[in-house]
Amino acid sequence: MSETADVVIVGGGLEGTAAAWALSRRGVTDVVVCERNTIASGMTGKSSGIVRCHYGVSSLAAMAAYGLEVFEQAEYIFGTDIGFRQTGYVVGVGEQNVDALRKSLAAQRAVGVDTEEIDKAEVAELWPFADLDPFAAFGWEARGGYGDAYMTAQAFSASARAAGARIRQGTEVTDLLVDGERVTGVRTTDGTEIAAGTTVLATGVWTRPFLTRYGLDIPIKVIREQIVMIDPGLDVGKVPVFSDLVSLQYVRPEVGGEIL
Ligand SMILES: Cc1cc2nc3c(=O)[nH]c(=O)nc-3n(C[C@H](O)[C@H](O)[C@H](O)COP(=O)(O)OP(=O)(O)OC[C@H]3O[C@@H](n4cnc5c(N)ncnc54)[C@H](O)[C@@H]3O)c2cc1C
Repeated sequence: MSETADVVIVGGGLEGTAAAWALSRRGVTDVVVCERNTIASGMTGKSSGIVRCHYGVSSLAAMAAYGLEVFEQAEYIFGTDIGFRQTGYVVGVGEQNVDALRKSLAAQRAVGVDTEEIDKAEVAELWPFADLDPFAAFGWEARGGYGDAYMTAQAFSASARAAGARIRQGTEVTDLLVDGERVTGVRTTDGTEIAAGTTVLATGVWTRPFLTRYGLDIPIKVIREQIVMIDPGLDVGKVPVFSDLVSLQYVRPEVGGEIL
């Protein structure tokens, strides 16, 4: 079997579904998304979902600021709650990183991020029972918070599908179709060939092993991350997300009252 598309996207996580949605908004709807499992079944379904613009690389901070607007307008754009909770976002650093934090906040503001420095007394009001002794300075993004990556990918996918994109779950891509130096589409497990003008690989941590056979080595390094959910034993109230750059952990409220 064979079919054609303007764009074929491999991977139905946040990146693949967001690409399909963004293309549909630009009128590109002859799109096929091939996901070997189900939408958001990869890293997306495991994400802590923290939404912030605090990135040390300006291009990432700018992209996050742009993406934040989608979260803020989600109900209008998608017609549904995608799980975004605008709790605010605090980042705390130790004495040796105060200058670096201030430089980073200034660089973020330069690309349009709403961020400021706040003092310990202000953080104590936000997180009344936190031990703030190890920290020397704090950044604050009132527009940050946390989302639900699974719900967000589902919303991107449903919106792209409504515009005409074909979302194929249970469809693994086994090979890229290659003509000389050009990728001309993909082949799936059942032998179907999808010829496409553009092929987008949105396979996350699986991208590197997928591409080695084509002589490409993409520098994606995979690191296992541990997540712990605790019952704090009291009502923590509306606390913001807290990035603790002293102990290198992040803490955020969970919908059911637990702390992640
Ligand atoms: C524990 C954890 C916590 C995180 N916390 C945060 C956070 O707080 N904030 C934040 O911004 N980010 C966080 N992230 C990162 C975020 O989840 C990822 O950046 C994002 O989900 C990546 O999306 P993706 O679409 O690139 O990858 P994925 O969601 O992994 O999607 C890739 C998809 O490709 C599919 N696939 C692979 N190979 C093939 C193939 N050959 N054919 C067809 N399909 C294929 C997979 O099945 C998968 O569904 C976290 C990640 C993890 C793991």
